[in-house]
Amino acid sequence: MERSESPHLFSGSTLDGYTSGVWHASALLADRVKAVRQPYSGAGVAELQEQVDAVDLDRPLGDTGAALHEVARLYLDNAVWFHEPTYVAHLNCPVAIPALSAEVLISAVNSSVDTWDQSTAGTLIERRLIDWTAGRIGFGPDADGIFTSGGTQSNLQALLLAREEALVGLDRKDAIPQLRIFATTESHFSVSKSAGILGMAADAVVGVATDGTGRMDPGALVAAIDGVRRDGGIPMAVVATAGTTDLGRLDPVDAIGAICGDQGIWFHVDAAYGCGLLVSPRRRHLLDGIEKADSVTVDFHKSYFQPVSSSAIVVRRGETMRRIAVHADYLNPRTAAVPNQVDKSLQTTRRFDALKLWMTLRTMGAEQIGDMFDTVVDRAHETYLQIDDDADFEAVAAPTLSTVLFRYRPAGMSVAECDELMPKLRQRLFYGGQAIVAGTTVGGHYWLKFTLLNPNTTMTHIRSVLDLIRGIGQEMTGERDQAAAVMA
Ligand SMILES: *Cc1c(COP(=O)(O)O)cnc(C)c1O
Repeated sequence: MERSESPHLFSGSTLDGYTSGVWHASALLADRVKAVRQPYSGAGVAELQEQVDAVDLDRPLGDTGAALHEVARLYLDNAVWFHEPTYVAHLNCPVAIPALSAEVLISAVNSSVDTWDQSTAGTLIERRLIDWTAGRIGFGPDADGIFTSGGTQSNLQALLLAREEALVGLDRKDAIPQLRIFATTESHFSVSKSAGILGMAADAVVGVATDGTGRMDPGALVAAIDGVRRDGGIPMAVVATAGTTDLGRLDPVDAIGAICGDQGIWFHVDAAYGCGLLVSPRRRHLLDGIEKADSVTVDFHKSYFQPVSSSAIVVRRGETMRRIAVHADYLNPRTAAVPNQVDKSLQTTRRFDALKLWMTLRTMGAEQIGDMFDTVVDRAHETYLQIDDDADFEAVAAPTLSTVLFRYRPAGMSVAECDELMPKLRQRLFYGGQAIVAGTTVGGHYWLKFTLLNPNTTMTHIRSVLDLIRGIGQEMTGERDQAAAVMA
C-alpha cells in the first residue's frame, strides 16, 4: 500500500497547512508584540529552565497550532525584544520588514547557495550583492566575496586567505609558527580565536598601541612590524577595526592601508559594525581608504537592519579566494561550467540570506538604511552630551559611532565603589526588564554601555533609562549603607 503524504511536509498539496501555519505564527507574534511594553519579562534562569525541562520531547502535540502556543509561552513570553526602544545593549538591530518577507521565501524554498544546481538565480542574486557591496567599498572589477554566517566567520576566512597568501613560496610547516597578525587590543576577539583555529602560535596576534582614544597608532604599527621582522617573524596581516565593539572607534584605515601597501602585508578591515557608513549619506568619508583593503568584513545583521544571519567577506582581488577552493566530484567538479559558490565558502549547505538584503534594497533603498545608521550615530552624540551634563553620571569619551560608555557615579562615590556597584546594577536593571544596557571594562574599570542601533530610540527613552539606572543606584547604595549601619 502506498503511504499517504505527510500533511507536515511542504508541497503543492499541503499549501493550506503551510499558509495557515505561517499565518498563525505571524498572528501569534503580532499579538505578543502588541502587548510588549518592555524589552524583557525579567524571568530568571531557574524559572525558564524549569519550563523548558518540563516539555516532553517524545510526546508530540501533533498540531502546529498547539506547538505554536506552547512555544509562545516558552519563547516569546520571555524573549529579549530588540525593537523595544529601551533595548540599548548590544549590536542588535530592529529588523527590516522586507527582509522578513524574504525569510518566508528562503526557508520554504530552502535553496542552498552552495552549487548552481541547488540555487540558480539565488547564486546570481548573491553575486550581484557582493558586487554592489564591493562597489560601495570602492573596489574594482576584480573584487569578489561571499555571504557568511557572521563577522566571526568573515574574519576567520579573511585571515585564512591572508595566511595562504603569506605562505606562497614558503615551507608551510616552518613558516606557520612565524606568522604574525597586527591588531589593537580593541579588535574583536574573533581575531585571536581565528589565529588559534588557523594553527598559528599562541603569541601570533601582536598588540599594536592605540593613540589614547582607542584607535590604532600608525607609527606604532610600523614599529611593531619592524620588531617582528627583526625577530625573524613573518608579518601575515594587519587587522584594522572600523567600528570597535566597545568604543566604536575607527582605526585610521587610509594610513594603515598605505603602510600595508608599502610593506606588502595583507590588509583586513573588520567593518562588522561600521559597515553602515558605506551607505551613510553624511558619514561615508569616515571610511576613506577602505578601498585599499585586501579584505573587508561587513555585518548586514548589525548596521543594515537585517535578521541574523546576514554577513559577508569582500576581497579586492578575487583570485585570492581561489587558493582555498576545494573540489568534490559530487558537488563542484573542477571542470564545472557553472558558478558554484561553495568554491569560495567555508560552509557547504548555506542559507540564501542574501535575499533579505536584496528585498531590503529593492524596497527601501540603500540611502534609507544609511540614514537610519546616521540617526543612531547622532543619537549617541546627544546621549553623550546628556550624560556629560548630568552630575550623577560620567562618560568615557565622546562617541565616534553609536556606542556610549558611561557609569553612574554621584558625588561622594569613589571609583572603587563604582566598579563594585556597576555590574550588580546592570544585573538588577536586566531583571527589572524595563531597559537593557551592556557592560564592559575599559582601563581596568567597569562601564555600562549604550549601543544604539534603533532609530526609534529617542532622547526621551534615553533619559528614562538613565533615570531607571539612577533609581536603582540610589536604592542599592541605600541598601548598602543600611547594611553597614546594622553591622556597626
Ligand atoms: C560583532 C563583531 C564581530 C563578530 O560578528 P558576528 O556577526 O557576531 O559573528 C566581529 N568584529 C566586530 C568589530 C564586531 O563588532
